[in-house]
Amino acid sequence: MTAVEVGQDTFDSLNPATDEVVGTYPVHTAEQVHETVELARVAAGWWASLGFDGRRARLLRWAAHVTRHLDELCAVVQAENGKPHGDAQLEAILAIEHIAWAARHAPKILGRRRRSPGLLLGNHTASVEYQPLGVIGVIGPWNYPVYTPMGSITYALAAGNAVVFKPSEFTPGVGKWLVDSFAEVVGEQPVFQLVTGFGATGAALVSAGVDKIAFTGSTATGKKIMAAAAETLTPVVIEAGGKDALIVDSDADLTAAAEAAVWGAFSNSGQTCVGVERVYVHENVYDSFVDKVVELTGKVRPGTEYGPITMPAQLEVIRRHIADALAHGGRALTGGKVGERYVEPTVLVDVPEDSEAILEETFGPTMTVAKVRDMDEAVEKANATRYGLGSTVFSKRRGAAIAARLKAGMTSVNAPFSFTGIGSLPFGGVGDSGFGRIHGPEGLREFARPKAVARQRFAVPLKLTTFSRTE
Ligand code: NAD
Repeated sequence: MTAVEVGQDTFDSLNPATDEVVGTYPVHTAEQVHETVELARVAAGWWASLGFDGRRARLLRWAAHVTRHLDELCAVVQAENGKPHGDAQLEAILAIEHIAWAARHAPKILGRRRRSPGLLLGNHTASVEYQPLGVIGVIGPWNYPVYTPMGSITYALAAGNAVVFKPSEFTPGVGKWLVDSFAEVVGEQPVFQLVTGFGATGAALVSAGVDKIAFTGSTATGKKIMAAAAETLTPVVIEAGGKDALIVDSDADLTAAAEAAVWGAFSNSGQTCVGVERVYVHENVYDSFVDKVVELTGKVRPGTEYGPITMPAQLEVIRRHIADALAHGGRALTGGKVGERYVEPTVLVDVPEDSEAILEETFGPTMTVAKVRDMDEAVEKANATRYGLGSTVFSKRRGAAIAARLKAGMTSVNAPFSFTGIGSLPFGGVGDSGFGRIHGPEGLREFARPKAVARQRFAVPLKLTTFSRTE
């Protein structure tokens, strides 16, 4: 177990590789969550009053501070999540880029914009102003405990909001590190605060009167959050699960495609919302591609290139998906063993399209590889999922055309999927992968309220008769 409830008031966070206790944290009650939101509301007024320049200066100082203490942050991530140092470093560096991107671009993207007043308002100037929403509740997962919540936190802060953050019960120490580091740099007011605990603490945050909830986690929890938020008409952004496909065309660079498939499926031990879980390969290149994937997979080493499975319950899901695939005619060309903590990187072929390993999110180091006649069949199969988060296409001539047909929030062409997780591009899914967008201009606007303002240029007497009904 990596998160153990000790008593009513506290819980332990454990290292998933060793079961060593790495920290003890409070289980915040609904009342405490409410108080925290009230404090944040007061701080939000001050934060908004700083304007774009005041916030940008502070956020950039925070980015520099996190950069200086990168190793410290990575050590906390490794201790709670179990991932190798390189993976921890990658997500932390990406998060720093998001702080800087949001801080630098907020003034331009959220500054006042002139609009055409049209004929009807010819005597007016028309503009739209982007105002902060107030207090944003951010609820995060454990798989990328820095990168994923920071994709909402940094954009919400840059847009002028205060944030109350509820990290996963598996990675509370990472959440605390982020909040403490912000307070060290921006100590004036509690603009960014932490609440810790299990699902009930998250549920309390949803009902605490926040102005928006930004949730990243499983589809099942996302649905519960939406239902609860409906009670108070609290808006939500839902970043949920995925079942990403990678398509390989007959003219693809097979080495690059195989590397992207292996990296996409096995990095972070497959515990990635945009991990490659299904691969569809043109029949002309299927055998060569599979050979390359199996050869590369043989070089992936536990401990250095991938870590343990962080959440014990996930081991059971992975075990079930592999067993189901094998029981229905599938074959594991390499891997297939699910241990106490680690799962061998597994390449499955001949898996029926209606099996769990194809339909449900596995969230482990497995990929299914299937042969297709042509790119129409590849697109049809890639789209035959209730999810739609990321996707990848390797094709020299038809990459853009295939990408346009994929039902997914994001597509990477001739490059590993992660390349779309940058500051300037919106991140989010369709279907059961959620809705709303974080990152980029869209991510900034997600945390701002557009307000329409029409200003009269010179006074014109209003004739009430103009509007009154004539009998
Ligand atoms: P989870 O849904 O179990 O938990 C996520 C967070 O929600 C945790 O902080 C948890 O305490 C909280 N929570 C649980 N019940 C709640 C409730 N009723 N009300 C409010 N909060 C509640 O997900 P997880 O296991 O932490 O994360 C893995 C999942 O996250 C995978 O499905 C993965 O695909 C998804 N994910 C999605 C993205 C994305 O950007 N789309 C990114 C990372 C992970």
